[in-house]
Order: sequence, then structure tokens, then C-alpha cells
Amino acid sequence: MLDINTISGPRVEFDTDALQQNFAHLAKLCAAHGIAVSGVTKAIGGNPDIARLMLDNGIRTLADARLDNIARLRAGGIDVPVMLLRAPAMVEVAEAARLADIFLLSEIETIRALATAKAELGKCCQVVLMVDLGDLREGVPPEDLPSLGRAVMATENANIIGIGTNLACNLGVLPDQSNMAELVALANQLEATIGHPLRYVSAGNSSAISLMLNQGLPSKINHLRLGESLLLGRETAYGHPLARMSGDCFDLVAQIIEHKLKAPRPYAARGRNAFGQQVDVELTEPRRLGVLNVGAVDCEIGGLCPLINGVSIVGYSSDHLIVDTTSSTSLAVGDEIRFRVDYHALATAMTSPYLAQVAFQANSVSFTLEGAPRCLPLR
Ligand SMILES: *Cc1c(COP(=O)(O)O)cnc(C)c1O
Repeated sequence: MLDINTISGPRVEFDTDALQQNFAHLAKLCAAHGIAVSGVTKAIGGNPDIARLMLDNGIRTLADARLDNIARLRAGGIDVPVMLLRAPAMVEVAEAARLADIFLLSEIETIRALATAKAELGKCCQVVLMVDLGDLREGVPPEDLPSLGRAVMATENANIIGIGTNLACNLGVLPDQSNMAELVALANQLEATIGHPLRYVSAGNSSAISLMLNQGLPSKINHLRLGESLLLGRETAYGHPLARMSGDCFDLVAQIIEHKLKAPRPYAARGRNAFGQQVDVELTEPRRLGVLNVGAVDCEIGGLCPLINGVSIVGYSSDHLIVDTTSSTSLAVGDEIRFRVDYHALATAMTSPYLAQVAFQANSVSFTLEGAPRCLPLR
């Protein structure tokens, strides 16, 4: 246990009590609809402590898009089955085979390479075939599924254990009764092709929750891969908060390193800023500006929302964030400002090597600093 006064650098803080409640509630809700959940850890950079909270609260398997994150889970002692959400590049196949158990795939060459790599480890390559239902990200067109299924069956050491689709990521195509019915029909067709039942009929991500809760998902659908809903307590088809879940489990915290009243000046010509962009903000009256020790290198600044009334973000560069504190009294150099994070800000902050990751319990106000290295192991 660490004294909060000694935790001073810019950091992400997460409330483990609130996270546990989110995980337990959503896992139970999905189970009541016949849905098993894989907890998606890509927005927490594979933080093993948060992953363990998922596993302690009704979630049995994990999923991530990146091998670095899965390596961090494994280094943290997590040994449950992990799904690799993004197909590995050929050069990553050996490592993917070592780190992950289940693969969401749509290219026969990748499946063959993984089957070979898994054979060398004495394990079977378990594949969820991805089908594209219109979002135009990963997946075979539905009409190509039977031939892919047959090609995988002809591949030694590859076993089709499921069918999956991913929506609402590229084009924003939402899951609906029609595309879910299509997924079920394709699952039935694939089972007929391969001659055995599928363990996973995996309908997608947090964008499927609204459909599950309102109209219901077809009973054959039995799996979702959930990240944002578990971590931020909202479904993503419409961005609605989910009842009995918390949207405030994570804070980004940074410190004011300069705090001054800045008066308007007759400006010199304005060129581009640190990011090559033309900025048209004008200072028309004196404002009190705070400069904070966090910047675009650490986190997606557009996804931050200050948690102090009257404080607003007015600018940033790679290493600095500028806030207007004019209408907020009593802030001074050395004070910290907390920000709520959206999913993108969370994902970038939790994979930044510059930010510490600190667990706390809002109720008991005890803090634990996650050990150094603060973020990803350098591999
Ligand atoms: C990121 C991802 C998910 C999880 O998405 P959320 O919106 O965070 O629930 C599920 N499946 C795949 C393939 C993904 O890449």
C-alpha cells in the first residue's frame, strides 16, 4: 500500500470496486441472455490486475487485438484462454501461437501458418471464422464461407470452433435482427459443412448490447467480445450508459506546472502549431491558464473531459495540456486536475509508457501503485 501523497506523476487511476461491479453485473446480464463474455483488454493495454478482476467476477476468457498486450497478461500470471482479435501478420505467427489460444481469422494462409506453429507446440489451432456482414473490416464475404470452411477442414491441426462477426467499427453498421439472423443461418450452414457443432457463435462487441437487451439476440448466438461496455459502462451502438454500471471507473490525473494570467497581445503572424495545424483560437481578454504535465504523446487529448467545474481544455502540444481556469477559484501550481476519459483516451493512456497506472477503491480511499515498469514490458 502506498501513501497517495507519494503518487505524484501523471497517471491513470482506476477504481477497482466500481470495475468489479461493472464486470459482475454485465457478465450476469449477458449470462441471463445466454451469452458468454470474453473480456477485451485492449483499452487497458492488457493490464493484468484489471484482467484478474474480470476473471474474478464472472468472465471466463479474455480477448485482445495485440500480442504486446497478451504478453503483458501472461507476464502478469494470467493463464486463461485468450482470443486474438486481430489476425497476426505472418512474422508474428510463432509468437501468436505461443501467446493466444483462440484466433479470429479469415485468411487460409494465416490459418495454415498458425496450425503449423501450434503443432510445433503440441497444441491444436482453434479458429473462429470471421464473416463480414457489411461493416467492411475483417471477415470473409458470406458466400465464401463454405469454401473457407472446407479449406480449414483440409488443414492439419486446425479446428473450427466458432463463427464470428464484427460490426460498428469501420462503417458503423449496427447489429440488427436481420444481420444477426444472417449470422445464425451462416452458423448453421458452417456446422453442416464441418459436421460438428460450433462452440462460439460470436455476434460482436459492445454495440450488440442494446439489441440483446431490447429485441433480444437469436438463441443460437452465445458469445460477445466486450471491452468498452465493461470498462466504461455504456453500450456503443447509441452510446447510452448502462443501468447499474459506472462510467467513472478511470481518471486521468495531471498536475499544474504553470499557472498564470495571460493577457491578449497584438499577435505576430500565426503559422502552424506543433501538429502542423492552423489554430484560430483568439485570446480577447486576460485569462488564467494552467499548463499541465500531460500531452498528446501520452493520451488522446480529444477524449479528455476535465472534472473540475469551470475548467476547460484550450490547447495542447506533445507534452503539455493547456486549460483555462479563469472561472475556477483556488487552483495553484502543484494542484492536480482529474479528467474523465473516453475509450480512445483510455486506450492510449493505458498503453503510454509515461503514465503510471494506479488502483484505488473509492470507498476505502486506499491506493496501490502498479509496479514499474509502468506499462508494457519492452520486448
Ligand atoms: C475491439 C474489439 C472488440 C471489443 O469492442 P468494444 O467496443 O470495446 O466492446 C470485439 N471484437 C473485436 C474483433 C475487436 O477488435
